[in-house]
Parts: sequence; structure tokens; C-alpha cells
Amino acid sequence: MAEPEEHLPARPSWNCRVCAQQWPCEPARGVLESGRSRMELAVLMWDYLEEAAKDMPQAAATELFNRFLRWTQ
Ligand SMILES: [Zn+2]
Repeated sequence: MAEPEEHLPARPSWNCRVCAQQWPCEPARGVLESGRSRMELAVLMWDYLEEAAKDMPQAAATELFNRFLRWTQ
């Protein structure tokens, strides 16, 4: 039985493994926010942001914030 394709980030690029867009892509956002309060979602995305910052030390903090946190607010 085939697993549904999960929109997970490839590392260290943090592009989606399925659709190759910057993660979290639109489908990934839908999965991430499902069943979570806005606060829980923000905490989760902060963790991802910190991981991504380790993988992409050249990325600007504002860029990472916009990408990982802004959509949760
Ligand atoms: Zn995707």
C-alpha cells in the first residue's frame, strides 16, 4: 500500500521533498496547523526555525521569521 506523500522538508535546503517549494509549503502548512492552537503552532514553528537556522547560517533572521512564523499569526 502506497503511503500518501508527506510534504516534509529536505535538509539542509529546507525545500519540500514533494513539491520542491520552500518549506513549509501550502500543503505542509495545512497539516501543521490542523489540530493545533495558534500558540502551539507558533511554538512548533519556532523549533523548526531554530533547526533551519543551524542548517542555513547564511539566511537572514527576518527571512527565516517570515518563512516559518509569519503565516502562523
Ligand atoms: Zn510541499
